Amino acid sequence: MLFFRPVRFFTFSRRFFIQNNMSKYLYILDPGHGGINPESGRYMTAGKRSPSFDDGSILFEGVENRRKVKAIIQLMNENKLDCVDIVNDWRDVPLRNRVNRANKLASTRKCIYISIHSNAFGNGWTRPTGISVHQFNLNSQIGNVFHQELSCNFDGITTDRGIKESDFYVLRHTTCPAVLLEIGFHSNKEESKKIMSGEWIQLVAKSVVDSCKILEL
Ligand SMILES: [Zn+2]
Repeated sequence: MLFFRPVRFFTFSRRFFIQNNMSKYLYILDPGHGGINPESGRYMTAGKRSPSFDDGSILFEGVENRRKVKAIIQLMNENKLDCVDIVNDWRDVPLRNRVNRANKLASTRKCIYISIHSNAFGNGWTRPTGISVHQFNLNSQIGNVFHQELSCNFDGITTDRGIKESDFYVLRHTTCPAVLLEIGFHSNKEESKKIMSGEWIQLVAKSVVDSCKILEL
């Protein structure tokens, strides 16, 4: 019976619904911040939201990040790319836990960590717009691939703010290559509306999956 005993990694993968199509990389998706508590209906992350729209509604970044990760995973599955949502929860899983989970996976196969965010500037509605790609070490070419696809797909839709070297926790402490994508500013009223649209979410999914397809070559 020893043969059929599930190993620890197996239970871990099951918990995180890894599609095992055996692509070159396992793509680890991180929907930055928390989501909505299904019982209280409350957004659990301090800040990380837009100012109020005229009708009182608010964009919650963690909620939008989850919508994008869901769309990315669906498109990855269609393209037979192995992927996992490293959070898979409405809770704001601490960064250390996200990284520990990712590093555990990265010890078993080649992985790429992709953290999905939108950006903000100042108080109230402000002007900055655009996309940026963040990496801890710019020596790796992986960030360039994501930047290329995002800047191409979002050309004429928002500003290209380039690729930046950033000392973010999830970039510094992951043992696999990692990128953090700031896609749009939810502190800009017009861009905030766009970020919530289905077209924007599909463009994000397409940009990320097209990047991964290049990395698979
Ligand atoms: Zn964020």
